[in-house]
Amino acid sequence: MLSKELNKMFGKAEVHVEIPFIKAKEMIDYAEQCRKYGQKRLKCFCLTPVNYEFVCAEYGYRDTKENYTILLVDFYKKLIPTGADLQLHVHLAQFPELLIKEEIESKIKDAYNFFITNLGLKPTEIIFGWYKYTDEAKKCAEELGLKIVEQKAHIYDKWLGEKHERTSQK
Ligand SMILES: [Zn+2]
Repeated sequence: MLSKELNKMFGKAEVHVEIPFIKAKEMIDYAEQCRKYGQKRLKCFCLTPVNYEFVCAEYGYRDTKENYTILLVDFYKKLIPTGADLQLHVHLAQFPELLIKEEIESKIKDAYNFFITNLGLKPTEIIFGWYKYTDEAKKCAEELGLKIVEQKAHIYDKWLGEKHERTSQK
């Protein structure tokens, strides 16, 4: 794994979007900044409602899946006009080889269809959470025309607008 410092240095043009229920404003502001000053088009790897349970466990999200879905659609519709390239981010599991094939396939397909149906976007790339996936996941992604992006420098929306960065250096 790259350190946070290296990711921040080299990964500015790729964001993993995981917590729009906390960092919506920061993310939109960042995307606007990138459009104005960035050298490359900003790429956002976005969670979808298939990871509702993940965000509840990982980030303490506490609302219904229905409301989470509405929130994501609303947020991504605001992110699209910034010119950012929205692609898929799907967390399968820490040990995806223990999942049954159907669960793996439905997560990938549902994420893909969420983009098509709700955003009118056809995703072409996917990053799996923790970069963990199986041969079945690979096959399913390929059938949908999704290129699997392997580990590379990136930042997280949760790093945007961090105040402690400045205060800790005083
Ligand atoms: Zn992730």
